Amino acid sequence: MTVRLVALPGDGIGPEVVDATVEVLTTLAGDAGLDLSIDRHLIGGAAIDETGDPLPDATLNACIKSHGVLLGAVGGPKWDDPAATVRPEQGLLRLRQGMEVFANLRPTKMEPALADASPLKPDRLEGVDLLVVRELTGGIYFGEKTEGTQEASDLCSYHAGEIERVVRLAGDLARQRRGHLTLVDKANVLATSRLWRSLTTAIVGDEYPDLTFDTMLVDAAAMTLVTRPAFFDVMVTENMFGDILTDETAAVAGSLGVLPSASLAADGPGLYEPIHGSAPDIAGQGKANPMGTMLSAALWLERDIQRANLAERLRTAVSRCIASKQTTADIGGALSTSEVASAVRQQLEQTGG
Ligand code: NAD
Repeated sequence: MTVRLVALPGDGIGPEVVDATVEVLTTLAGDAGLDLSIDRHLIGGAAIDETGDPLPDATLNACIKSHGVLLGAVGGPKWDDPAATVRPEQGLLRLRQGMEVFANLRPTKMEPALADASPLKPDRLEGVDLLVVRELTGGIYFGEKTEGTQEASDLCSYHAGEIERVVRLAGDLARQRRGHLTLVDKANVLATSRLWRSLTTAIVGDEYPDLTFDTMLVDAAAMTLVTRPAFFDVMVTENMFGDILTDETAAVAGSLGVLPSASLAADGPGLYEPIHGSAPDIAGQGKANPMGTMLSAALWLERDIQRANLAERLRTAVSRCIASKQTTADIGGALSTSEVASAVRQQLEQTGG
């Protein structure tokens, strides 16, 4: 069977990090006898320039029919006019809706060689290997809004189905990891958090009794992330708390360029992208770190096409390049984006199929 990956390079450094990742995926697939076809499509500012639409129908249709989507980044100063009615980010929002992704996964694992890049003391970073599972479709961002000059409100609402599906996903993931699940909420003051807590406690009790389960208020979780980040294994949380905490976990790791993410649907392909933006300040200069995109591709390999062995080979190759400083300058090396791709390919060739 041909495995079809859609690549959406997007804007700024997006095309550079996606090209580098396509190169290593092609090497990996060739080596493993995986029949992989990769089609590039337009999104974001590049799509506006060419078609007037940040998410052309052809792009969304290709994504929905694919076995997975790898995105670079969208946006940049060229399309930043606040008065513009068509903006690159609309492409990404519509893509997430069109693909019906409901959970965002953000793993953060400390590479010992990158400890200097973190603002935390090295002893606090030992053993940090955590995953935030953020609910993406509900909560305060999507609730009814009122906005006046003297008063405004944002409604936060959740229904049981939205909570249960993401909690089950997080439970499954915790089982595949170290078996520790933490629900992050604000159940002392928020009704939605109390619903999260009662449903999650019931699901874990009935279906995941093997997990170590705890709950933590979001303020305590924000503090624990910088005082004892190694405490966490899988954190599951609602949309806004997840938005904030994932930026904090990125800061703990200290290196924007190496962190991956996955957004998953109940049924159908996932959307895989590095956590960084389009970095217009370094675009086109060969300075972009492609490792966050490569590690996003590793998530794709294990989640959408169940090739955990290939994901592990890719992660090991990236890790070895980091350890031997075969990296871009943002994490202390002196290689260009395409030289990093070559270095990762060499590591893959050394570890063989
Ligand atoms: P950014 O992540 O693009 O850049 C922040 C800083 O980190 C910059 O100094 C940049 O050079 C550096 N950086 C980022 N990725 C890097 C990499 N792979 N290698 C080396 N250095 C890297 O964030 P920003 O500057 O706030 O946003 C720039 C544009 O990206 C804006 O238009 C924003 O809307 C967009 N953006 C897009 C996404 C997305 O597509 N998912 C996410 C965030 C921001």
